[in-house]
Parts: sequence; structure tokens; C-alpha cells
Amino acid sequence: MAVIIDGKAAAERLKTRIAGEVAALRQQGRAVGLAVILVGDDPASHIYVRNKIAACEKTGITSTERRLPAAVGTDELKRVIEDLNRDPAIHGILLQLPLPGHLDENEMILAISPDKDVDGLHPVNAGRLMAGLPGMVPCTPQGSLMLIQDVRPDLRGLHAVVIGRSLLFGKPMAQLLLGADCTVTQCHSKTRDLPAFCRQADILVAAVGRPQMVKADWVKPGATVIDVGINRIAEKKVVGDVDFESVSAVAGAITPVPGGVGPMTIACLLANTLKAAKSD
Ligand code: NAP
Repeated sequence: MAVIIDGKAAAERLKTRIAGEVAALRQQGRAVGLAVILVGDDPASHIYVRNKIAACEKTGITSTERRLPAAVGTDELKRVIEDLNRDPAIHGILLQLPLPGHLDENEMILAISPDKDVDGLHPVNAGRLMAGLPGMVPCTPQGSLMLIQDVRPDLRGLHAVVIGRSLLFGKPMAQLLLGADCTVTQCHSKTRDLPAFCRQADILVAAVGRPQMVKADWVKPGATVIDVGINRIAEKKVVGDVDFESVSAVAGAITPVPGGVGPMTIACLLANTLKAAKSD
């Protein structure tokens, strides 16, 4: 039976460490500030923003929320971002996605200063990650790597298979695993015989968005399995991309959904904000 990786506990440990560092900076007269921009009335986005602001408050990070109407124009949103870029009290800027359809997300991400881009989505930060330079790393892959290293501190030479190649998760996850000296295979919707690749994985990371797609016979015995997927299959039931019940009988370690990767995302957002403040 696999070890269940407790993402909630790992996130709490990380937040406690962050709170200590934020308090130490405050004693030196340096406050750490995050600005969250929320456009429109999407209920899920409102919940995400509320959770991020609550997490900031718990760790002593000052948060500012900028709410804009769904009909806000490109120029007005860019002006808000540029004001925050110039504001010395703001170290991190988070633009809650998705944006309403008339706004170009890529254009807006480009408007954020790369040094304040705590989501790590700016192409400058993607380039820094690829070049092995310090920068802002997207929160969910960063948190996933931490969970992997909690159970397997030395990843040298292990075969990691990442299912998914999004800019938000799959691509940066593969780069991080490569940086930790794994041999990395990146799979996607056009991959032929996906189960055959998965069976070779010492580390298997699934970020697809298909409920319980990864089955027990896709998994090498003893493998570490990281389930990034969040799939709502009923009113109150959320499952991952991995068939937890059958896979946990084969894997060496596995993240549950919920309570695995999810809690690490917010903790890493706070970690990125602190990092931005420290390099100020
Ligand atoms: P995405 O942009 O939709 O990317 C999905 C990836 O899966 C794509 O690369 C796609 O391939 C691949 N894919 C789709 N069907 C496939 C199949 N049948 N076989 C193999 N690969 C397939 O999604 P994302 O933003 O990366 O997110 C993935 C999942 O993680 C979602 O469930 C999302 O909710 C979740 N997520 C969770 C967190 C968290 O905090 N826990 C954060 C981010 C995302 P192509 O590129 O060929 O289309």
C-alpha cells in the first residue's frame, strides 16, 4: 500500500516557515505585499481569490485586492497593472485567470513586471527556468516538486513521466524534473500508447483534466505518483486524473485529491511573494 503524501501538512509547514521570515522582515521595517487583480464576477475566481487573501493574512503578507468590472477595457486593465508594477509596497502581482473573453490573457501577462510575476507565467520567467537562471517558477509545479522530494530527496537518474504539456503546469514541471537530474518524458494528447510510457516511470505526474484516467496497470510498482488533476464529477465530489483506489495498491507513494498538490499551490504563491520581496 502506498504512502499517502499529505499536501495539506506540507503546505502548513511551508506557510509556518514563510510567516517566520515575513515577521523577521517586518522587524527590519520591510512589509511584504501581494496585489490580486480580479476581473468580473466568476464565482470560482472569487473563491480562489478569497482563499489566497486569507492565506496572505495568516502569514503576515499584506494583500491588496483590485476588483474590476467584467467590461473593463484593455487599456484600463493595463494601467492598473502598470501602477502596481511601479508601487514599491507591492512585491507580487497576481492576475486571477481566466479573464473575460474580450481581454487577451497573454497581453496582460506580458504587462506584469517579470520580477513581480508571482504566478511565473511571464515568458521571461519561463525562459529563466529553461536557462537554469533564478526567477519566478509557477506555483503548482514548484509545489509538486517539493512533495516529490519529501518522499524521494535524490531524484538523480530517475525516469519521470509528465502527462500534460500546458504552460501553467506540464512544461515547467518537466523543466523542474530535468533540473533535478531526472530523465524526463513529456506525454500529451497525441502520445501513442500512453500506458506504455507511464509504466516506465519512477515518478509519474498526471496533469490532464480527465477523471481517474491513470489506472493501476499503467503504474510501475513502487513509483511515486503525483495527481494534479481537479475534476468535479458530482455536486460535492472532486477526483484527480489518477484512479486513487487501485493505483494506491501499486504505487510507492501517491498524492490524494483533494489534499495533495492543491494546498501546495497557495503556499508556493506566498513563497514566491516573499522571494520577490527579499530580492527587492
Ligand atoms: P490543460 O491546459 O487543459 O492541459 C492538459 C494537458 O493534458 C494538455 O497538454 C493535453 O495535451 C493533455 N491531454 C489531454 N487529454 C489527454 C489524453 N487523453 N492523454 C494524454 N494527454 C492528454 O490543463 P492544465 O492547466 O495543465 O491542468 C491540468 C489539470 O490539472 C486540470 O484538471 C486542472 O484543473 C489541474 N490543475 C490543478 C492545479 C492545482 O492547484 N492542484 C493547478 C493547475 C491545474 P495537448 O497539449 O496535446 O492538448
